[in-house]
Amino acid sequence: MNKFVVLVIEDDKLVRNLMATTLDLHGYSYLTASNASDALLQITSHRPDVIFLDLGLPDMDGVDLIRKVRTWSSTPIIVISARSEDTDKIDALDAGADDYLTKPFSVDELLARLRVTQRRLNAVQGDKASHIFENGELMVDFAAGIAYMNGEELSLTPIEYKLLCLFCKNVGKTLTHTYLTDAIWGNTLDSDLASLRVFMASLRKKIEKDTTHPRYIQTRIGVGYRMNRL
Ligand code: CA
Repeated sequence: MNKFVVLVIEDDKLVRNLMATTLDLHGYSYLTASNASDALLQITSHRPDVIFLDLGLPDMDGVDLIRKVRTWSSTPIIVISARSEDTDKIDALDAGADDYLTKPFSVDELLARLRVTQRRLNAVQGDKASHIFENGELMVDFAAGIAYMNGEELSLTPIEYKLLCLFCKNVGKTLTHTYLTDAIWGNTLDSDLASLRVFMASLRKKIEKDTTHPRYIQTRIGVGYRMNRL
């Protein structure tokens, strides 16, 4: 039995049962909640490792629940949303969610998100003590402010380096356009989104072998970007 405990917060019984069965089949321990108040109880009493959260709950807005949980817990939260709830999904990420799944999703997608999150948790524990971040052929020495690819120093502009560090420090986590433009420019003017795209394109040219099939930083269309743990 995997010691990793997953909490599924979902009021749709069919989806909840499907997720529970999938988790069970793949050796995860799981807990379920069908509303926000039950979820809060489960989180405080059982301290799950990862939370799957449906944004449309009967007793509380999912985004408000994230804000509440984030005041005292950094447990990864993967949001489940319907395609029509795109803005909610972005609000959820900005409120502190780590990633999202769009309904309808496959069992494979669910498990993939879970693995990304698990790797990220392990990486966070491993990286805490060091100033060195490693992922695939990429290495960043935060103390020296230098990034390397295949052992060769990358020539990055200050903004490209800042962007890269944001992804490294949040590897596996989806960072929204607003989060990134806020972190880089301190505001969120429309023009910054265009600038962000330009800097992302130039950063990718420097770190990806094939920019049409990026390995390190994935585009999450309409939402933002995420660095994969390779
Ligand atoms: Ca729902």
